[in-house]
Amino acid sequence: MGSTTGGDNDMSKVQESILEQGKKTKVCPRCGKEKSLDKFSNGKREKDEKHCWCKECCKKYRQENREKLRIKRKQYNQSHKEETSEYNEKYHQEHKEERKEYNKQYHQKNKEKINERRRQYRQEHKDEWEQYSQDHKEETREYNKKYRQEHKKERNEHERNKRKTDPLSKFKADIRVLVYRAFKNLKLIKGGKTFELLGYTPKELYIHLMSFVNKPCVYNKCNIEELITVENSQNDHIIPTCIAETKEDIIKLNQLNNLRLIHVECNLKKSPEDSQMKREKKTNDKKKTKTRN
Ligand SMILES: [Zn+2]
Ligand SMILES: [Zn+2]
Repeated sequence: MGSTTGGDNDMSKVQESILEQGKKTKVCPRCGKEKSLDKFSNGKREKDEKHCWCKECCKKYRQENREKLRIKRKQYNQSHKEETSEYNEKYHQEHKEERKEYNKQYHQKNKEKINERRRQYRQEHKDEWEQYSQDHKEETREYNKKYRQEHKKERNEHERNKRKTDPLSKFKADIRVLVYRAFKNLKLIKGGKTFELLGYTPKELYIHLMSFVNKPCVYNKCNIEELITVENSQNDHIIPTCIAETKEDIIKLNQLNNLRLIHVECNLKKSPEDSQMKREKKTNDKKKTKTRN
């Protein structure tokens, strides 16, 4: 008997000393269990800056009293309206950057989950969703436009980064530029979306160009041993687009069978006449603007 009591005393002494030294555990008065401190939420009110009840008990309590708590919170907010809004405003301002960063990281980490949830929600609320989009069409368009304008820099930066890491984005962006330039060279304005114009999908372009990757360069005068990668190569037209005279020519010359990936260096070497022509054209254009001025 005596020894057992002694053992218990020893145990509680050990516990006490643990609590004294490192405060590693705590007894939850709600469930009576001793738990490590990470099982308690942080709170400012208690001496040890931990909530009185353990996380599990707090959660259970919230779940069991959801409706009661909601009403209580509502009442509190009603009677402390000004204080609360002032406090919220202040808090909001003070933690703006922090929250922005947190949200950004959270979004990054949970991208797929969030998208899936959104998709599911839309599916479940399809009718409401359609009604809402219909009713707010103009607003949404305006908002998107404004948002795009305000976030132009970030968006461009994001697109640039994406192009570096995602081949599909790179190929898409490159072909857009090539087609745009070809149009510009003919003093035509490119209307409509690039891929609708060309008649194939970005995915098809991707599959076609990726068939050149990890293989030797197909340029006949290539003397580089390195195999083709997305990074060391460039989209090249077998028949150059500078011979195009009409919009139809441009479309024809930008079909997949005229596109390939070759080394960046090979592409630069490939058509000296081509770049010579461009240089002459540029200087001529410059002269024109000069004489006009
Ligand atoms: Zn508990
Ligand atoms: Zn090459």
